[in-house]
Parts: sequence; C-alpha cells; structure tokens
Amino acid sequence: MRKSTGLAVMSNPNDRVVTPAAVPGSGDEPLPAPGAFDAHTHMDIMGLPVDGVLAAARAAGIGRVVNVGCDLSSSRWSVSCAAEYPDVYAAVAIHPNETKPVDSRRDEVLASVAELASSPRVVAIGETGLDYYRDWSPRYVQRSWFRAHVELARRTGKALMIHDREAHAEVLAILDEYAPWPPYSVIFHCFSGDAEMARVCAEAGYVMSFAGNVTFKNADALREAAAAAPSELMLAETDAPYLTPVPHRGKPNSPAMTAHTVRFLASLKNLELADFCVTLQSTGARVFAW
Ligand SMILES: [Zn+2]
Ligand SMILES: [Zn+2]
Repeated sequence: MRKSTGLAVMSNPNDRVVTPAAVPGSGDEPLPAPGAFDAHTHMDIMGLPVDGVLAAARAAGIGRVVNVGCDLSSSRWSVSCAAEYPDVYAAVAIHPNETKPVDSRRDEVLASVAELASSPRVVAIGETGLDYYRDWSPRYVQRSWFRAHVELARRTGKALMIHDREAHAEVLAILDEYAPWPPYSVIFHCFSGDAEMARVCAEAGYVMSFAGNVTFKNADALREAAAAAPSELMLAETDAPYLTPVPHRGKPNSPAMTAHTVRFLASLKNLELADFCVTLQSTGARVFAW
C-alpha cells in the first residue's frame, strides 16, 4: 500500500517491467508562467508516492496531470487519485491491448467504464484505439472496443483520447464514421504520425499530443509532424513512466519532465516559450474543460 495516498500500488497493466526511480524525475528548469500540464500519464505504473511526483511537477511548472487508465483497475485508480488531488484529472478506458481478457464480459466491463466516466473528475475517455504493433488482442476485438469507447465519448461529451500504434488509416476511418466531431474533442495521445498525417488531423480538428519521443535522435518524421501541426492543436505529455525525453532518456519518466518536451516543441516551432505555454493552456482548457 502507498500510505501517502491510501491507494494500492498498481501492477503494470501491460505487464511491462518498470523499475521505479528513487525520486520523481526532474523537469530541471521550470517553465515560465503560465506553465503547462501533462496531458497523459500513468502515475499508478510509476509506483512512486503521488505527493512527491506532483511536487516535482509543480516545481517544473507542470500544474496539472491527466492520469490515464488502461483497464478497470487502473481506471478506478485514476478516478480515486483525481478525487484526492485537485491537480489530477482522470481518463478511463480499456486499452486496446487489454481488450481480449475482458471481451467475454464486454457489457459488464463497458458499464463499469461508463459509470467511472460519469465522475466530474474524468476529462477524457481513454486510452482507447488500435494497436497493430502488438498482437495481444485480435484486431476485430480492438475495433469493436474502440467503437464502444467512441460512442461513450460522444454520449458523455468528454474528449476521446486515442492510442494509435501503426494503425493510422483504420483509426482515421473509424473516426470518420462518427464525423463531424465537435472542435477539440479528439486527441491523438503520443502522436506517432508523419507530417502528412498531422495535416490530415489538423484538417479534421484533431488534437495531437506529443510525448518525449519527439526529442529522440531518430525521430525526424515525428519532428516534421510537430513542425506541421498548428500549435493550437498541440498538447504535450509524458506517457510516464515510458518515453523519457532527452536529456533524461534511459531513466523512468515523470510528469515533471513534460517541461523538457514543451521546451523542445517551442524551440522546434520557433515560438516564445511563454507564448507556447499560453497556447497549451488554452487548448487544454478547451479539450479537458477544466
Ligand atoms: Zn498509449
Ligand atoms: Zn499511455
């Protein structure tokens, strides 16, 4: 048990082995006012006391985090954490990789997700989508759960937070079935498309959330996408504990490190850092209605 939060330490919902850091990662230099936020994180998987993680984030100018569920237990954890901490908001869903184990209990599990989603602290339905990189769940099962989450997002009016791994065309096609989408209602978390995909998303009004991998040496296509994306349709996230940005690559990620990605994106787009923070804050307020 984690005494500081009263919440149970979660096992990794995706069975990926993570060695928690002794201390939360550093954003090193704080962002200028109005700062930014971490649009997608997994503090339950980080396995560190939430108070310390949030204090480190605040010190870096990261004032809010969206903790994202991948299955029912991490979705519940996210909602409880958001109820306990005013700076934490929640997203709830069954991750595409986690759909197979619950597919036989589909109605019951979807009803639980919908019930969690009714909490005012839940700002998005996610992460949901398609993952054709891993084959942990059959594609037809992933598609059917994605559609169910899309319908929940439309019904509740909450943002749809998409996990799209090597499935761009099919994700876009399924979104098209439900078009038109209200402005600022669709987020591609850990955006992984190229510049052309960024243009397609911009045309449709979809928001692109960039993670620390945009700072990686081999990420030229992703940087071209970030350069092509309109800044008012961009967010920054960590997907902690994964995808730690340069200069901390190799260490576990933490919401504080969003600051590095924000700084990197501002310089890539040749924007004043404080101006980019203002834009991020206004996009966040539109997307998450907080
Ligand atoms: Zn994801
Ligand atoms: Zn994630």
